[in-house]
Amino acid sequence: MIPYGKQEITQQDIDAVVDVLKSDFLTQGPQVPLFEESIKKAVNAEYALAVNSATSALHIACLALGVGLGDVVWTTPITFVASANCALYCGANIDFVDINSDTYNLCTDKLEQKLIHAKANDLLLPKVVIPVHLCGQPCEMDKIHKLGKEYGFSIIEDASHAIGGKYKSNPIGNCEYSDITIFSFHPVKIVTTAEGGVATTNNPALAQKMELLRSHGITRDASLMTEQSHGGWYYEQIALGFNYRMTEMQAALGVSQMSRLHDFVATRNTLAANYDQLLKDLPLITPKQSDDSYSGRHLYVIRLKLNEIALSHKEVFEQLRLRGIGVNLHYIPVHTQPYYKELGFVEGQFIESENYYTDAISIPLFHTMTQEQQDKVVAVLTVVLNKLL
Ligand SMILES: *Cc1c(COP(=O)(O)O)cnc(C)c1O
Repeated sequence: MIPYGKQEITQQDIDAVVDVLKSDFLTQGPQVPLFEESIKKAVNAEYALAVNSATSALHIACLALGVGLGDVVWTTPITFVASANCALYCGANIDFVDINSDTYNLCTDKLEQKLIHAKANDLLLPKVVIPVHLCGQPCEMDKIHKLGKEYGFSIIEDASHAIGGKYKSNPIGNCEYSDITIFSFHPVKIVTTAEGGVATTNNPALAQKMELLRSHGITRDASLMTEQSHGGWYYEQIALGFNYRMTEMQAALGVSQMSRLHDFVATRNTLAANYDQLLKDLPLITPKQSDDSYSGRHLYVIRLKLNEIALSHKEVFEQLRLRGIGVNLHYIPVHTQPYYKELGFVEGQFIESENYYTDAISIPLFHTMTQEQQDKVVAVLTVVLNKLL
């Protein structure tokens, strides 16, 4: 089976992790700050906080921005559930803004309409909006940022798919148009630390809050303490935090992987450009890219033109899997998940997202993909979609 995504682990990565295992620190040593440095440098942000997952990063980012009971956070339905769950962890409510039918990202016009409607009807305005750079393609951050100023919401960019990408020639994660950006380093993502996440920001107060929250709310910084030190052992818990720390093995793997970031993203862009060409005569829509951005190309999503295909969406998916193509579907609209339906969301609420779900398929795309593998994906797709079965 050719998987839809796969990590690349080199001897250099293995050596980096083994070196840590032989060292004095398995956690809270020098590798985490080194990894954070590599992220800061790559994305041009003032602060980077490494944690054990992007889900944890989303949670502490929401808390740092003051999300709590009585607040509402808005995100897109076409994302991994974690982008929405983080608001619920904080006791806040979640709501969604439907996607743009070309980019599949949160639609900026619909965001504005929803804001106007909320304001006119005295409804709660969002405390935070979480745009997700789906497949690595950046959202229209300048417009979202402008709306944030106008309507008073903060912005967390969910860049789980987007490390190494650029928006208007600047690296995603530099927080020019947001308060915090979060990244994921799960093995299917562009860079991996096995499990892991990072939050970047340029705001020292937010960085300090997230640093406390990732490690129990405990500080050893005398300037934050309420009492005089009792002695060399002394620390204070000044907030209710968690254990969301990244290990030294994970961070060392991350440092080693980050040295290949540009190569990873360049290869993904080459493979994606190949797909654009190879698939152009098939009954499907290839991903449209905006000209002011450079996508990390985490995923390659095709949309089937079902009225030109003999098989159903599900049949195409199953035929591809049967023939060794490890396709997937990113994502089931979050508001249609049973847990979210329990909260009151209903089908029909976010039509573009629901339409997307009826014909989208993610086809294999990963750094080590060979020409033969890519040709096989295209050949199998050609047979299945033309029903030359
Ligand atoms: C993978 C992913 C997450 C969660 O990342 P973890 O590191 O697995 O917690 C959140 N949002 C999006 C869009 C993702 O793709």
